[in-house]
Amino acid sequence: MNVPVLVINCGSSSIKYALIDSDPEAPRLAGLAERLGSADACLKGKNSTGERFNQPLPNADHTQALSAILERLEGRIPGAIGHRIVHGGEQFTQAALIDDSVVSAIQSTAALAPLHNPANLAGIAATQKVFPELPQVAVFDTAFHQSLPPTAYRYALPESLYAEHGIRRYGFHGTSHAFVSQRAATLSVRGAGGWLTAHLGNGCSTCAVWNNQSKDTSMGLTPLEGLVMGTRSGDVDPGLHAHLHRQLGWSLNQIDDVLNKQSGLLGLSGLTNDMREVEEAAEEGHEGALLALNVFCYRIAKSLAALSCALPTLDGIIFTGGIGENSPIVRRRVIDLLPHFGFALNEESNEAMIRGQEGKLDVENHEGPEVWVIPTDEEGRIAMETRQCVEAQA
Ligand code: ADP
Repeated sequence: MNVPVLVINCGSSSIKYALIDSDPEAPRLAGLAERLGSADACLKGKNSTGERFNQPLPNADHTQALSAILERLEGRIPGAIGHRIVHGGEQFTQAALIDDSVVSAIQSTAALAPLHNPANLAGIAATQKVFPELPQVAVFDTAFHQSLPPTAYRYALPESLYAEHGIRRYGFHGTSHAFVSQRAATLSVRGAGGWLTAHLGNGCSTCAVWNNQSKDTSMGLTPLEGLVMGTRSGDVDPGLHAHLHRQLGWSLNQIDDVLNKQSGLLGLSGLTNDMREVEEAAEEGHEGALLALNVFCYRIAKSLAALSCALPTLDGIIFTGGIGENSPIVRRRVIDLLPHFGFALNEESNEAMIRGQEGKLDVENHEGPEVWVIPTDEEGRIAMETRQCVEAQA
């Protein structure tokens, strides 16, 4: 399929889009419609000459925003639409061509992602209206982790909670972990062996990948499990909910809000959820920021060490996401916390890594496991999976 794919990531009041050519290196038309449904809704983006635009779309809904996006595609007609869908439950192990049965299957997993799946479905309905003739493909954040064995995905809870209610670990950020681990398998002489990946953005997760398959990951039933994130707590004692309810009288909604929106880097630093600002404040000696940085890095290292149990051999570690790609401080600290793994980080290469660059950060001729930075490309991966799915059906 030698035509571009339109990648859509639909939230409850936003649509992120990218028009991606069959040549992944070709420039992309990309943008974001936000605050949909409100008076200050707008569409922001870049055209093919790199010029930025900001178009007001007062009170626009998803369908109106998609029509405005269509006008921004500069006459290039996509051959298919790829939708990022957060939760595919156990039903989707790979991308799926959207038809009525796929829509109902996504609906049936909405209980597992009540904020995301309904918004993704609204995006599908709107694109079907605006592009009725185009094939549409669902690409799931959870699908890459469907290769987890039960030892990694089962919680130690009564069986019926799994069998009747689907309570298990699913994992997220699958397109990112798949993209960077397969990229490392191509770039490294070690190929597709055992890789630990750390996706560190606003949301953060780790993954153990063996032979291009996810074997364990830090996120679970929801994206709250695991690492410290921008505003999410990551792992806490499961007894915390009952404690906060009984001792402080907090409601479930309050607890959920605190753990998802007021914790993580923001909660620990008391300042910000943004790692750049945390690093700056830590540099100036701010105690909360120093603590946030230390806990953040320690928890990544602890998670990677734990996930290494899922790999027969360790070939290397890959950092990605806004923090993983851009923070030499975080990379250095995480590596320093894993001395028994035999990494040998080249400090100069670590510091010299330029934004958007990919590369290996080891000292020369080092024979232990490698350290890589690989910028993630979730949209490129969604476009590739969309293309493959459409071609497989042709
Ligand atoms: P999202 O998960 O929303 O896609 P990103 O992957 O863009 O987010 O990551 C955002 C995070 O990356 C923020 O915490 C931001 O501070 C951090 N970040 C971006 N650039 C740098 C940098 N140069 N140094 C440290 N952190 C950075």
